Amino acid sequence: MTASKFARAARIASIEVSEIVVMSEAARARREAGHDVISLGIGEPDFDTPEHVRAAAIAAINAGDTKYPPIAGKPALRAAIARRYEGAEAANVIVSSGSKYTLLNAFLASLNPGDEVIMPTPFWTSYADIVRLCGGVPVLVETDAASGFKPTAEQIRAALSAKTRWLLVNSPGNPSGAVFDAGDWQAIGSVLAGHDQCWLMSDEIYEHLSYDTAFVSAHAALPQLRERMLVVNGVSKAYAMTGWRLGFGIGPEELIKAMTAVQSQGTSGTTTISQAAALAALEGPQDLLAERCGIFRARRDLVICRYILAAANVTIIPGSAFAMDGHFRISYACSTEELEEALSRMADAVAAIKAPA
Ligand code: PLP
Repeated sequence: MTASKFARAARIASIEVSEIVVMSEAARARREAGHDVISLGIGEPDFDTPEHVRAAAIAAINAGDTKYPPIAGKPALRAAIARRYEGAEAANVIVSSGSKYTLLNAFLASLNPGDEVIMPTPFWTSYADIVRLCGGVPVLVETDAASGFKPTAEQIRAALSAKTRWLLVNSPGNPSGAVFDAGDWQAIGSVLAGHDQCWLMSDEIYEHLSYDTAFVSAHAALPQLRERMLVVNGVSKAYAMTGWRLGFGIGPEELIKAMTAVQSQGTSGTTTISQAAALAALEGPQDLLAERCGIFRARRDLVICRYILAAANVTIIPGSAFAMDGHFRISYACSTEELEEALSRMADAVAAIKAPA
């Protein structure tokens, strides 16, 4: 083939395929080449989609539920989602092809070039690029372990400007795991109270994976802000349905209408089969959520450094204390004998790890 003359549109000049996707594709290719690859990259539950959910999808296919869907989602599914959010009605709900697309929809529907979106760091890899893709400017607010990876009211206040269109938060947060409690939401509510130009977008996709702090939705915590709030959620993580591509947004009717207009020129709505499956997931038995949360919690405990202290009685310091997440530090200022003993205990502790069933 001759060299391509393709020139990217300015709006995507600095946008690349998400690093998580790049790594996942690379892992898939290595697996296909016969390597035994263990993926610790993508946040994809290894559980199966529940049996009753799969059955609902098959029933939908067999019943001929295979025509174009209503753009904003099937009424029964929108109503089922609305029932989870006090005071919400079906008109406050849009169903989209994954919560990622819900985020894209919302920003396409609301951002003008140069509009700012405040987002606390560390954040999920796609946020900044999605905002840029829609002409917006990400404004980063840095958090750290000392603040529990949560932004303070002062930080948000300092980041606000006349151009701020959204504050985008994610609780439970990817990758930090930070969970906003009622007090954290109140702090956000009080900062935004005097800034009508700034709406709140709350990504709650990890709602059912909160371990040490009870999950509180922005919708429940800040009823006074519902008129300028979009809650984003979906079935991917909670019900092990990543491939079904089904997410949703709950917000004021005018925003939902604008997002529906975007969706009408994009996907034309979400796959009918996935919508039938999502309805079964949301309306069916929910006990699997706590069960799976417990399994994830056990796995989380397995991978953090505290395991080494509990299982080997050896202290090591997580790299986050040195601004280098993902590593740990071993001090070798002790005796050689102590070092040898510590290393052997650590080796035993690691060897004793049995993954939860
Ligand atoms: N939001 C966060 C914080 C995520 O980590 C992810 C996926 O990893 C998503 C949204 C997108 O999820 P989906 O599009 O599968 O609903």
